[in-house]
Amino acid sequence: MSLSKKIVFTLLPLLIAIIAISFYGQWRYVLPTFQKLEQHDAITNFERVAANLNSDIEMLDLLNKDWGAWDETYSFIQGHNPKYIASNLGIESFRNGKFDFLFFFNESHYLIWQGIYDSNRNTLVSDDRFTQSVIDRLQTKFANVTSPTINADANYKGLILLNQRPVAYSIRPILMSNESGPSKGLIVRGRYVDTELVSDIIEQTHVRFQLIPIDNKSIQVNNEFLIEELGNHTLEVSRYLFSDNKPIMLMKSYFQRDISQQGTVAIQSAIIISTLLGILLLIAVWFILKKIVIAPITQLTASATSITYTRNYQQRTHVKSDDEIGKLSEQLNEMLHAIENRELQLEEILNKVKRLSMTDSLTNIANRLKFDSVSDIEWRRMKRERKPMSIIMCDVDFFKQYNDHYGHIKGDESLILVAKALNETLSRPADLVARFGGEEFVLLLPNTDIEGATHIAETALNKILSLKITHPNSEVCPYLTASFGIASMVPSVENSILQLISDADKALYQAKQKGRNTIEVIASSRAESIKPSA
Ligand code: GH3
Ligand code: MG
Ligand code: MG
Repeated sequence: MSLSKKIVFTLLPLLIAIIAISFYGQWRYVLPTFQKLEQHDAITNFERVAANLNSDIEMLDLLNKDWGAWDETYSFIQGHNPKYIASNLGIESFRNGKFDFLFFFNESHYLIWQGIYDSNRNTLVSDDRFTQSVIDRLQTKFANVTSPTINADANYKGLILLNQRPVAYSIRPILMSNESGPSKGLIVRGRYVDTELVSDIIEQTHVRFQLIPIDNKSIQVNNEFLIEELGNHTLEVSRYLFSDNKPIMLMKSYFQRDISQQGTVAIQSAIIISTLLGILLLIAVWFILKKIVIAPITQLTASATSITYTRNYQQRTHVKSDDEIGKLSEQLNEMLHAIENRELQLEEILNKVKRLSMTDSLTNIANRLKFDSVSDIEWRRMKRERKPMSIIMCDVDFFKQYNDHYGHIKGDESLILVAKALNETLSRPADLVARFGGEEFVLLLPNTDIEGATHIAETALNKILSLKITHPNSEVCPYLTASFGIASMVPSVENSILQLISDADKALYQAKQKGRNTIEVIASSRAESIKPSA
């Protein structure tokens, strides 16, 4: 697996894990904070509604108190103020005071006056059944407000259900204006918590709510807030309202779940942003790694591959940086430098070995191996060029006797001199003289016909003779001599280098036969005996 794939396969799960953890963290810990805040906000607003409702009851009660602690009322309830009804208990008072019913009771709790506002007909009516239901509902409290020790602040107020309709009420004692008693009766004042009042409160608080009467008053409930999520958009906060420790109504209010929605949007944005940042980071890390690790390593690999295939150890890597990869590159170059030096040394040694393997160790001229290799190459070259090639075989005469006379060391020295003389006869770069074996030599003459070869053989014969190496046991001459056999051919498919060598050998044989110290040309070339000029 490539390095970049490994990096991606490591970083990608890491990124996914980070996103997952961030997602979990936001949902598990941050969102509940928003939800708590939202619920707290909802409860605060709910309490505002409740406070508003209470303040309406308060207003009703204050009005009731004003009327209750008033000499006019005090006098009216004792039957001394007949004008009281006409001047105070008209429909305008109901409308301005925003109440729906008003009852006056004397100290014996007998109903003195009743007024019930009929909003449909916009008139005051008397409804004994309704009045009785109010009395039934509140009568238990009457005794307390008419007790002799009562003061002006004695009151009962709150919410009750009348015919399943929520009603705010207030009970106040009837006192003198200076709030002194004794209480001569009581005023019961009430107001329906109707849609109009609810709308007023909604308008003031901007909180939607409703009051739901409870049929079963014996249910076991407490006055804690009940919070329920109605989908993602609405939060319902409700609380039971009690009268005489019994639940009478459930007040429900509804709130837009703006905070948790904003929280969700904020969390989603945070997750999207962190995901994008993570991706950006991943891309950045990938690019940085690619630039500072992968690219230099790829370059190093390419250099190493190229060097391996071309075996050109002069090449160098070109990665330059001050980090570990830079050091690796430097070390590779050091290694290449060492290999290059070793290669040069090896090449030198190889050349030397090659040279030595192609050189005759005694005479320092080419050996048989070299001759075989060069003769083959030259044969083919001449074949292509359709030019003649000549071979001169040369054998030292009576050399056994020479050795016998002077010993092998001296014999070797003479062979060295003969080889040198033969070599000096050659002038063309393609010509070659080689030791063929023992005291036998061969001269390879490419692009040389029989005449040219004969001329060279003559020169060689004379050169050896002119060395004047004394040879007392030679049967032809007092000096060391050699015999020469020449063969020449234009290479073709019908002949071969072996044929040419064989021919030259035959010619040499003939030269020996003819008495030695002579040159013989093979019959196929031009068989004739050439005597030395000296
Ligand atoms: P011929 O004229 O017929 O060629 O007679 P020859 O004595 O030269 O030939 P023969 O083949 O009978 O003997 C060759 C001799 O050459 C035998 C050997 O002592 C001598 N010889 C061959 N190689 C070397 C060498 O490397 N060093 C020395 N000193 N002598 C060698
Ligand atoms: Mg011989
Ligand atoms: Mg010989």
